Amino acid sequence: MQIAILGAGAMGSLFGGLLAEAGHDVTLLDIDEAHLAAIRQNGLRLSTDAGERVVRQLTVLRPESASAAADLLIVFTKTLHTAAALEAARAALGPQTALLSLQNGLGNAERLVRFAEPARVMVGVTTWPADKSEPGRVSSHGSGAIRLMSADGSRTPVLAQTVDALNSAGLACTADPDVWAAIWEKAAFNAALNSLCAVTQCTVGELTNTPDGEALALKIAGEAVAVARALGIEANDAHVAANVRHALAHHRAHRPSMLQDVLAGRRTEIEAINGAVVEAAREAGLAVPYTESLLHLVRLVDARPR
Ligand code: NAD
Repeated sequence: MQIAILGAGAMGSLFGGLLAEAGHDVTLLDIDEAHLAAIRQNGLRLSTDAGERVVRQLTVLRPESASAAADLLIVFTKTLHTAAALEAARAALGPQTALLSLQNGLGNAERLVRFAEPARVMVGVTTWPADKSEPGRVSSHGSGAIRLMSADGSRTPVLAQTVDALNSAGLACTADPDVWAAIWEKAAFNAALNSLCAVTQCTVGELTNTPDGEALALKIAGEAVAVARALGIEANDAHVAANVRHALAHHRAHRPSMLQDVLAGRRTEIEAINGAVVEAAREAGLAVPYTESLLHLVRLVDARPR
C-alpha cells in the first residue's frame, strides 16, 4: 500500500519504519525539522526486540509538501494537532484515501470524518509502546496489538487491506466490532493515571505512596466507565480496575505521556481524555466530579507560561 504517516514522532516513526520494512511505500509527514533532517541524512534508527537497525526506504516530508494521495493515511499526531495536521496534508487525501487513528483519547473518529466519509475512516487502540529518544531514533520493546474498526462499523475492503498491511509489519492487528469498548477502557485508564501523574509529577508507582492514590485512580477510571455504559458502550469496570492496579504495581517507574508533556513544556492531550469524558457525562446526565477536577487542574498546568 501507499501509506502516509501524519505525525511521525514515537508511534508514527515506529509504525512507518515497520511498514516500510514490510515492503510498503511509506511517507512520513511531520513538522519536526530536526527529526525529518536526521531521517533524511541517516535513515530512521529503529530499536525493537528484533534488534537495532536503520530503515532507509522512507520518504520524509512536511505535511504541506505532500503531493500524492495515499491509499492509507495513519494519523499519529497528539490529538490536539489532528485537525491542523490534516488541513496541511490535504494533498495526501484523495477520494480513495482511507484514514486511521490509533491515537489515545476520545473523539478521534469525529475529528477524522471531517476529512473523509465514515466508511473510509477507521479508529482503534494499540498497546504497542514507543519512545523517541532523539531526532531520527525510535525504540519499542515488548509486545503489543492493535484493534480497529471502520467508524461506521462497515466491513470494507480497505479495512481488510489495512489489517493485512499492519499484520505484514508484525503489528498483530484485528478488526474488532467491539472497538468502542476498548477505546473507552483505554480512555478511562488514561483519564486516571495520565492526569494524576501530570498534576502530581509522580511516576505511576509513586501514586501508591499514600493509601489515597490508588483509590483516587480507581474512582476516576470508574467514572469514565460509568459514562461509557450510560452511552450503551459495554466498557468493563473490573477490567479497567485490574489494568490500573497492574500498572500501579508493575509499571512503577513509568512516566505517562501527559507527565512527559508537562515536563517538556508541551500542552497535554487532557481535552481528548478527561475533557471528552466530562463532555460525554454531561450529555448522559451523569456527574463525574473526580474526572472534572483533574481536567481543571491539568488545564491550569497547561495554561502556565512556557
Ligand atoms: P509524539 O509527540 O512522539 O509524536 C507526535 C508527532 O506529531 C511529533 O513528531 C510532532 O512533531 C508531530 N506533529 C505535531 N503537529 C503536527 C502537524 N501539524 N503536522 C504533522 N505533524 C505534527 O507522540 P506519540 O507518543 O507518538 O503519540 C502519538 C499518539 O499516539 C498520541 O495520541 C498518543 O496518546 C498515542 N499513543 C502513544 C503511545 C506511545 O507509547 N508513545 C502508545 C499508544 C498511543
